Amino acid sequence: MRLVLLGPPGAGKGTQAKRLSERLGIPAISTGDIFRANIKGGTPLGQLAQSYTSAGRLVPDEVTNDMVKDRLAQPDTENGFLLDGYPRNAGQVEALDALLAAVDSGLDAVVQLTADTDELVARLLNRATVEGREDDSEDVIRHRQEVYLSETAPLVDLYSARGLLVAVDGMGDIDDVTERLQAALSALEA
Ligand code: AMP
Repeated sequence: MRLVLLGPPGAGKGTQAKRLSERLGIPAISTGDIFRANIKGGTPLGQLAQSYTSAGRLVPDEVTNDMVKDRLAQPDTENGFLLDGYPRNAGQVEALDALLAAVDSGLDAVVQLTADTDELVARLLNRATVEGREDDSEDVIRHRQEVYLSETAPLVDLYSARGLLVAVDGMGDIDDVTERLQAALSALEA
């Protein structure tokens, strides 16, 4: 299956993406994780990305789209993939469309994890202490939510209009959310 996982920062996309990827046997590809690995490794990509990620801003589309293109060219994506945190704006949707069309392929579903904003901010502040991510200061958290609302949330309607959207309640117990996701995806396959 070729899937996109969509949802606001702090909705638990990363955790759920890893679990789904294990269950479905497809790689979870997190653009945020790839940026963080490059920043940690001090690569040119990391140096470029850092000023954006640390401010909670989107890394420019050309950079992000090229990175995803390279990743999706890896052989482990042949039977499918689960994109976590990409696409994040309309330009990235177009780039992904073009990328998939070039190999006569397309998305099977876009799974939206829905969540309550207040709880999300609380989760992110908690994660700031647990993981020590530098983009988890209160100002940056707020900015990331704003960027989500203005740039990424409109993709819900866009994919819904294409008949690809599956909304799953992302609130509550992590295991329950995984079960709901699994059930929603099984229903798709049926
Ligand atoms: P995440 O771990 O998905 O919350 O991503 C962390 C940060 O990486 C974001 O706040 C952005 O600065 C950057 N990033 C991740 N994915 C993208 C993307 N698709 N487009 C642009 N920037 C991204």
